[in-house]
Amino acid sequence: MTSSIPSKLAMVPFVSVDDMMRITNNIGLEKLLFELAGYIEDDFKRWEKFDKTPRVAAHSAEGVIELMPTSDGEVYGFKYVNGHPKNQQEGFQTVTAFGVLADVSNGYPVLFSEMTILTALRTAATSALVAKYLAPKHAKTMAMIGNGAQCEFQAIAFKTICGIETVKLYDTDPKATEKAVRNLADQGIKAIGCSSSQEAITGAGIITTCTADKQYATILTDNMVGSGVHINAIGGDCPGKTELHRDILLRSEIFVEYPPQTRVEGEIQQLEKDYGVTEIWQVMSGEAEGRRNENQITLFDSVGFAIEDFSALRYIHDQLERTGSHVDLDLIADPDDTRDLFGMVLRAQE
Ligand code: NAD
Repeated sequence: MTSSIPSKLAMVPFVSVDDMMRITNNIGLEKLLFELAGYIEDDFKRWEKFDKTPRVAAHSAEGVIELMPTSDGEVYGFKYVNGHPKNQQEGFQTVTAFGVLADVSNGYPVLFSEMTILTALRTAATSALVAKYLAPKHAKTMAMIGNGAQCEFQAIAFKTICGIETVKLYDTDPKATEKAVRNLADQGIKAIGCSSSQEAITGAGIITTCTADKQYATILTDNMVGSGVHINAIGGDCPGKTELHRDILLRSEIFVEYPPQTRVEGEIQQLEKDYGVTEIWQVMSGEAEGRRNENQITLFDSVGFAIEDFSALRYIHDQLERTGSHVDLDLIADPDDTRDLFGMVLRAQE
């Protein structure tokens, strides 16, 4: 943390959805994504310091509810997140989230935050950060398949961090594509609506798949993917929910966040349990190679890992003073005599 976490805090800073929008607009989306990517990169480079576990998932036919905890020994963080593809048709978000950061030395929460917007920000920052290491250097065009809630955040992160100038958009629902084209109109990136995924990926050096459907979907087939591209596959993030044809995986060099989680949730659930993949933190810390040549297909099989959320909460915590956008929540009981919790309740009757 750049600022120290005050211990013995009874009041807990709470960042609401309104606050998160204010923080984003005050700092500026591009600056925020750039700074957030820096926090994620710093944490990925000290990967071995973290307690790591695959997220704890409660699956149902409709979707999943997950808890994503991690700690670096000084600070603990977790996110509550859901993924319900059918929500969108019923007027709810597919993905919603909130999270907590706490001081390991006394267990007191130091931040409670909305994370629906923050998840979109951290996913976009992570995707673009990884592409900075893996994507072909000349790539100026990205295809974006799936134009839902994550879409514009992804486009702007790739513009800011990777220098993408054009995004070609495709969604099975043309209204989603129209929305994204409209939202990106004044964002300094050329946004082109396409009528098929084939049209969207033609000429794109980077392909992002971000669709939501709980099935083994085939958003991209093998013959659609030419050599030399980078695929940022973020929509397949659950058992029984993938986006790419297996043959694409077999032609690609595959990079993942945390193998024990990705082997269950990612595109590689379609492959043998011991199929060779590279952990992206190793590329960032110089221990493993990223892209080796111009013809290679690189694939970031992203499912979203707890350390990215930890970095995002850490970043927001460090912005509290700078932005002032939060309220203090009376979340932790704070009796004058720490052992007289009962007496505090009694006195509240008076
Ligand atoms: P969303 O429901 O807002 O948008 C999904 C879009 O995909 C919709 O517009 C839908 O019409 C479109 N779609 C569905 N099937 C399609 C197809 N075959 N071809 C083209 N478009 C299609 O969801 P969202 O919040 O944008 O999230 C998308 C997915 O990304 C979800 O599955 C979510 O779980 C996942 N996600 C992953 C991460 C990560 O870290 N990897 C983070 C956030 C979200």
